Amino acid sequence: MTIADDLRELIRTVPDFPKPGIRFRDVTTLLAHGDGLRRSVAGLAGLADGLDIDSVAGIEARGFIFGSALAVHLGLGFIPLRKPGKLPVATIGEDYDLEYGKARLELDPTLLKPGQRVLLVDDLLATGGTAVAGTRLLRRAGGVVNSAVFVIDLPELGGAGLLAEMEVAAQSIVG
Ligand code: IMP
Repeated sequence: MTIADDLRELIRTVPDFPKPGIRFRDVTTLLAHGDGLRRSVAGLAGLADGLDIDSVAGIEARGFIFGSALAVHLGLGFIPLRKPGKLPVATIGEDYDLEYGKARLELDPTLLKPGQRVLLVDDLLATGGTAVAGTRLLRRAGGVVNSAVFVIDLPELGGAGLLAEMEVAAQSIVG
């Protein structure tokens, strides 16, 4: 059994959440499993191996869990891409479409220096809209974003292709 098969078994699929017809991949079962969580972070670190990066950015909320664990593992700082209205300072924001609705991400642009190389992290890549919005935000703040890593990719939804159009290479543990 590969690491991907092992981890796939720890991810719960919930039918009809948050809307009828959606099969939601619920990673809380993976997070609650000590060895599963350790192997997920080790898997992300393996994907990040050899990448030239200065910082890790994660997307609220589950991207914070995997992203901050990865940042600690790599000895790098963590940049949060937040849901609207959460940051106490001036922000820049990107609105985008989700598979099931609309959303917005916000960033404190002073967290980045011009040319800072940032690895984007989230739990799951579906259509790619969220990761594209995160990439845009980080780039607007002066960041260089060439790579993104995910625990899960739903390849039939085409997210990796959308990111490739922005010259971001997407990698995942469970494809
Ligand atoms: P995308 O923008 O369509 O790629 O959707 C990815 C974003 O939505 C990520 O931030 C995920 O956390 C979230 N998401 C979409 N579908 C799922 C799912 O089935 N399980 C967990 N998160 C999901």
